Formats: sequence, C-alpha cells, structure tokens
Amino acid sequence: MRILSADWVLPVEGEPIENGAVAVRDGRIEAVGTAAALGEGERFEDAAIVPGFVNAHTHLEYAVYAAFGDGLSFAPWLALHIERKARIGREESEAIARLGAAQCLASGVTTVGDASFAGAAAHACAELGLRAIVYLEVFGSDGDGALGQFREKLDYVRPALSERVQVGVSPHAPYTCSTEVYRACLSLDIPVTTHFNESQDELDWLLRGEGPMLPVRPLLVEPDGQSGIRRLAAAGVLDARIVAAHCVKVDAEEIELLARHDVAVAHCPRSNALLGCGVAPLAELRAAGLRVGVGTDGISSVPSHDYFEELRAVVSAARARTEDAGALSPAEALELGTLGGARALGLADEVGSLVPGKRADLAVVTLAGTPYVPWEDPAAAVVYGGGSPQILATLVDGEVRYERGGFRWHELTDAASRARSLLLQDRAPASAQPR
Ligand SMILES: [Zn+2]
Repeated sequence: MRILSADWVLPVEGEPIENGAVAVRDGRIEAVGTAAALGEGERFEDAAIVPGFVNAHTHLEYAVYAAFGDGLSFAPWLALHIERKARIGREESEAIARLGAAQCLASGVTTVGDASFAGAAAHACAELGLRAIVYLEVFGSDGDGALGQFREKLDYVRPALSERVQVGVSPHAPYTCSTEVYRACLSLDIPVTTHFNESQDELDWLLRGEGPMLPVRPLLVEPDGQSGIRRLAAAGVLDARIVAAHCVKVDAEEIELLARHDVAVAHCPRSNALLGCGVAPLAELRAAGLRVGVGTDGISSVPSHDYFEELRAVVSAARARTEDAGALSPAEALELGTLGGARALGLADEVGSLVPGKRADLAVVTLAGTPYVPWEDPAAAVVYGGGSPQILATLVDGEVRYERGGFRWHELTDAASRARSLLLQDRAPASAQPR
C-alpha cells in the first residue's frame, strides 16, 4: 500500500480534508481521510491532492498546430488546418500526440476524451500511460463509407487498446457528416463524440446553405435547413453515448433536446473564445441537467494543454456571460473538470473523484510561492493558483506517470517540432498518407 498526504485532499465527492491522505493499493483508492488516521506516507508540503483531471475534449494530434490561422474566422481556420494536416503521416502524428499526451499528464490530467483524426493518439496514450477514450474521426455522407474509414483506422489503433485506452468513434460534425453516418457510428455501440453548434459559420451553412463555409463545400454535407441537433433528434440518433463538444450556439429548444436524450457536453471556453465563436451557455446547460465536462480542445485553437488555464476560463466565462460573480465557484469548476468530465465520458464509476474503490487517478499540485497560502479556500487556491508548472506528480492507476522534472522534454519536443516544420512546408512529404 502507498500513502500520499498533503495540506489538503479535495475528494470532489465529499468535503475537503485538511491534512488529508489518500491510500492506494493495486491501482485503486483504498481509503481517503486524514493523515492522522491513515499515516503521512509521502508528504507534500503546501500542496493539495485532487482527482486527476478529465480533459473531456482534446485533439492530441494537433499539439504543435499552435497559432495556425490565428485570427481567422471558423471556416477559413478549418480549411487551413485541413490543408496542412495532409502534409504529414502517421509517424509525425504519433510524435505530435506523444507531446500532447505528455503535456496533459504534466498538467494533472489523467483521462482524455480525444477526437483522433489519424488514431496516433491511441498509441501515444498507451505509451505514456494516460487513460483515454480515443474517438476515431469519420466524415462524409455514406454510412458504409464512414464505417470503412473507422475500420481502417481501428486496424492501426488496435495494438494500443487496453482497459486504459479505449476506442470510440467520432462523426466529426453535422456539417461534415450525414444523419446516416451518425446512425452507422451509433450502430458500433462504442463511445461517440462529435462537435455540435460550435460556430455561427456552420449554422449559416446548415440553416441556409450560405456563408463562410462555402469554400470548403466539397467537404460538407448538403444542408436541409436545420441545425445538427434538431436534424439528429428528429432522426432518432441522439443518445447518452454521445459527448458533444462546444454547444456554443444553442437555443433553449436545442438544450432541451440534448437533455431529453441525455447527450453529454464537453465545454471548451478558451477555444470558443479564441476562435471568436462565443461563450457557451453553461448555466443553462447545467440547469437542464446535462452531464457537462471541460475540454481544452486542441492546440489548433488554444495556446496550451494547461488544464488550470481552462478551469479559470470556465469560471470567467460563466460569470462574464451571466454578469453574476456567484454564477460558478472554483469548487464547481473543479467538479466539472473531474467528476463532470468522468460522467460525460461514461467513466464515473471508475474515475473522477477520490473515493475508495475507484481507480487511483490523482494529481498533486503545489501552491508554494503563490498568494493562496496560507490556505483559505483550497478549491479556489487550486483553480486560481494552480498551473502545469506546479504539478508535482500525476498518478494513473496508482502509478506515477508524471513527476516534476521527470520527462525528457527535449526528446518529445524535438520530434514534434520536426513534424511542425513539415506542416509549415508547402509540399507534402512522401510519407504523408491520405485520409
Ligand atoms: Zn474538437
């Protein structure tokens, strides 16, 4: 048995424990209580132990796409990424995803819900010991065609799969996937993720067949005058297996449809803000009873995988949108980023809080040197004062998968930056593989 203790343990399910400890045995949490009761074990001063964060929406394969198309509106931004992505192959995607997975672990993230274009994220997560559902992306109008894309990617991904790294499928979005493609994906009976109502650009296309999406028309499905949520609800293909990223431009009826079918939401406030898409109605989504998690999205739209930056954005966005400082507390943001994400991904029986019996997925964050010690509100200290550089250790299944100073970052960044230089070249290398 291994015991870790710190100034505070924040179990998320249950009250914060001062001078708390967590006991771990065989990869699971054996007990959570005071250090006086459980013993000090490995003691972390000026630190808090929290459940590992659940990053509910990532694209680890875009970890070096930083600032590509920054300042463009959604449609031309998307077009630029599609064009550049064709310049690299699997080897490069794996190098990039490895860096992305390492950055997540270094930020206290223990689980990702990753929308994966190439499937490389599965190999990266398996290698680094990061828990993941890797949703393989499919596109188009033809259901059988989409299943063909899925199977081809699955063949490549299969050796990486385990209890820790599971496969899902991602019909990309209602403007790039037909209802038949969604139906085909659900027939696989595995976890599903997608992008719903992220931007006005996509709604201009879906509702009226016009707007900034027109230049990428060959990649789009023909519009039928409805939003994706309405179209898929009417076709009976919304259900609880689906995690919908974004849901920024949703009206009350669409929120009700999501709630009725128990679709989960991955809230990505930094991505939505930086792409000029807007601020998702988090209060309304929560009030409707939706399962909501928090995702960073890819480095294609945000500057970092630092999960604390995202949690702060969750609080800021919620309060700015409602003009109410009481709209969301740091403790609520912490819950969204842990248990909320676990519920959204369907993993809440196993992860998302520090309770006996769950997987020992946890992070140790130091607040030493910040204005948040001496402690007042430990959740506020963690959410407002934390950051990737302050993560001391990240454990998945009770195993240390990250320790501050422990990664050989230069190896990870060298390989990934070589891939970035290919992305920035005008011509595709011979190793680039078509989708
Ligand atoms: Zn996404």
